[in-house]
Amino acid sequence: MGEHEPDDGKKTAKTAKRATGKKAPEKTAGTAGKKAAAAGRKAAAKKAPAKKAAGKVPVKKAAPPRKVAVAPKKATAAVAGASPAKTVAPEPPGGESRTALVRRARRIDRELAEVYPYAHPELDFENPFQLLVATVLSAQTTDLRVNQTTPALFAKYPTPEDLAAAVPEEVEEILRPTGFFRAKTKSVMGLSKALAEEFGGEVPGRLEDLVKLPGVGRKTAFVVLGNAFGRPGITVDTHFQRLVRRWKWTAETDPDKIEAAVGSLFPKSDWTMLSHHVIFHGRRICHARKPACGACPIAPLCPAYGEGETDPEKAKKLLKYEKGGFPGQRLKPPQSYLDAGGKPAPPLAAG
Ligand code: SF4
Repeated sequence: MGEHEPDDGKKTAKTAKRATGKKAPEKTAGTAGKKAAAAGRKAAAKKAPAKKAAGKVPVKKAAPPRKVAVAPKKATAAVAGASPAKTVAPEPPGGESRTALVRRARRIDRELAEVYPYAHPELDFENPFQLLVATVLSAQTTDLRVNQTTPALFAKYPTPEDLAAAVPEEVEEILRPTGFFRAKTKSVMGLSKALAEEFGGEVPGRLEDLVKLPGVGRKTAFVVLGNAFGRPGITVDTHFQRLVRRWKWTAETDPDKIEAAVGSLFPKSDWTMLSHHVIFHGRRICHARKPACGACPIAPLCPAYGEGETDPEKAKKLLKYEKGGFPGQRLKPPQSYLDAGGKPAPPLAAG
């Protein structure tokens, strides 16, 4: 979850502004989809007025019209009750009304849910302890690298007690491929010790307990809560930060404030899957340096369209993982991913 790419916030703001006058591609809409597509164009038109790009960008068919549940007040109330968000952005950036922003944000999420029906956490895990450790290890590296590393770790140290009692140098050797292996060894052994001594060897299911563990911040805590405990949380990783700023969902740069601002746009029940959708899109299409705008299914809703490659053929070559016809990151992916045609990643020995 922690794949790290250079923050490009300044460049984003600059180029998004430049993209204001660029045309957003039209979707191919059937009769049933015209209404929905028109709503999307209307939302996008303020930032990227469509001229006549239609047909140039091969985007998927517009989804059938769905009810747009615009309930900003309710959403805000849900956040207040849910607690993690302390600050809510008072005004949307870019002059878009709050109602329009909520509509556009939710529409983007619905579109992404159709593009990535198999979205899931990309770290292999079989229990909360494994997910917690894997998430800590994923800082500054890819989930694939972590998935190739953790089988040996969990085979040797299956419980927090085992890992807490390990010889640090031996753990370091196993974790070496994930980078920053000394610091990561310290973190996972420290959190294992805390779990063993303070929580009876179990991972706690509360945010306030999780963030007290060594090396565990809100991002890691929400990954664990959302995916191992079924408790909604927004995972503000590098992809999430980059994309929500490109979409002008918020202009905040502090992860906690981003979490609060974005959380206020959605019902709490959407938070975990929203995080997966956004992160999947960031990894597969909307990359940090070269977003594949010409192959992006949500281009008509994106104020930053044009920041990346708009030529459809060139853009297709930038696609990664399943979208580029390659394997995903999990060695042991969920069945829904396999059912959707996803390919598991090769084990480390396979190169
Ligand atoms: S890839 Fe899509 S979401 Fe990303 S900047 Fe381009 S149009 Fe926007």
